[in-house]
Amino acid sequence: MVLCRTSLVVASLFIGLIVSRPALAQDMWDWHIYGGTIVDGTGQEPYQADILIRGNQIGYIGKVDPDTLRVQKRVEASGKIVSPGFIDPHAHGNPLETPEFRNFLAMGVTTILLGQDGSSPAVGSLDEWFEKVGEVRPALNIAVLTGHGSIRSKAGAGRKNPTEGELQEMEQLLRTDLKAGAFGMSTGLEYVPGLYAGQDELERLAEVVGAHDGVVMSHLRSEDDAEIEVSLDELAAQGKYAAVHVSHLKVVYGKGVERAEEILDYIEGFRKKGTRMSADMYPYSASYTGIGIVFPDWAKTRDEWKNALHKGPEVLRSYLTDKVARRNGPASILFGSGKYAGQTLKEAAGQEGLSPVDLLLEMGPQSASAAHFVMDRELQDRIAVGKGVMISSDGSPTMRHPRGYGSFAKVIRYYVNEKEILSLEEAIHKMSGLPARTAGLTGRGTIATGHKADLLIFDPEKVSDRATFENPHQEAEGFGWIMVNGQMAREGGTFMDKRWGRVLSRSAR
Ligand SMILES: [Zn+2]
Repeated sequence: MVLCRTSLVVASLFIGLIVSRPALAQDMWDWHIYGGTIVDGTGQEPYQADILIRGNQIGYIGKVDPDTLRVQKRVEASGKIVSPGFIDPHAHGNPLETPEFRNFLAMGVTTILLGQDGSSPAVGSLDEWFEKVGEVRPALNIAVLTGHGSIRSKAGAGRKNPTEGELQEMEQLLRTDLKAGAFGMSTGLEYVPGLYAGQDELERLAEVVGAHDGVVMSHLRSEDDAEIEVSLDELAAQGKYAAVHVSHLKVVYGKGVERAEEILDYIEGFRKKGTRMSADMYPYSASYTGIGIVFPDWAKTRDEWKNALHKGPEVLRSYLTDKVARRNGPASILFGSGKYAGQTLKEAAGQEGLSPVDLLLEMGPQSASAAHFVMDRELQDRIAVGKGVMISSDGSPTMRHPRGYGSFAKVIRYYVNEKEILSLEEAIHKMSGLPARTAGLTGRGTIATGHKADLLIFDPEKVSDRATFENPHQEAEGFGWIMVNGQMAREGGTFMDKRWGRVLSRSAR
């Protein structure tokens, strides 16, 4: 009898297998990825499994009998990692101009979040922009935030506190965008016009974002060592209403591991009080932005600068002298656009026979962008491994900074392979599952049945970033197989002509 019962159990187990297996065998699958080690984006330990894909979705993860399987194409992934495509929570670029986005794809990025630093991607309505982007069909997925600065300008608030009417107009514009599919709002509080926004305005808008379950991503009021805590306080206040996120977390002029830990603890403190606060960072110790960043608030625009010169340049000259010195001197500003692209401020000034500050006075705040070597590597490295900190590029296809071509590959090459301060699964979590959860990208960022098939197949030892400050537009290497929405964007190292990305809409979930 015991034997009988055992065989009954065996039989029912067998029936269970038969029930699930023929379902696999009878279905026609598009792709069978076999023999690979899965790092699924959640941060959990890697495991061995096959993956079956049909249409744009992951249909099955587990053991598969290849003999009974009906499948269009197979990819052997033995000895390789299969991971989710990376998600860049702070990216720049114009899909209508550069829909190929090879810089991102080559470093494993299959989804980017645009509309950063207070600037919406669309000048007109977001609906229309989505339609246009859908028509050009970008090579990767595009999600967007509404730019606070853009709605502020549209509402006519200019460089002052908005009136109640203007504020209501801003709320309405924001609501319209969130309904159209934006994932939240970005602020650029170090730039015009974001720097004119006060606490009341930001909290009112955060309330609208929260009501739509979105996120407020912020280029903080200041990233300077002495002002970072106050800037985080300001963001945390908006955290009463919505999830908040620090874009490209850095401590300009700050130094050392201890300072990084202070900042990470400070953020953790808000989390302990119930604020949903996260951050992203790019793995380089130079920032990249307009040279207006070294000009004072009263001389950020062309008119203000001209006015300041007109009144006599002494006050502005002494401000710039002090600021450039504090930002590690004129050799630490490397122009990336304009007349002096590729030269440092020191070199350009030497060529013109001027002092560096006099050259800046002559150029004005709006004349060029530059890489600014203002960060401490040890401090930034500690931030990279911090809890709730994810990786971004803050880059674009055209920007002259290596981060737009190297960031995600550099994390694997430098933090995982060389420094060994992140495990591969932690690094991948920071580049896929964590940004997906933070931005509200459901159904992406982790490998799970029913999720969209944005996947990478690669050997982590072979991943490398090749972009440098001298040659910033060199594609990363090592991601030979890249799948976007169930279609191969790159197969065995060769990029496909067809583009498979789509516009992601928060409201269409
Ligand atoms: Zn920014």
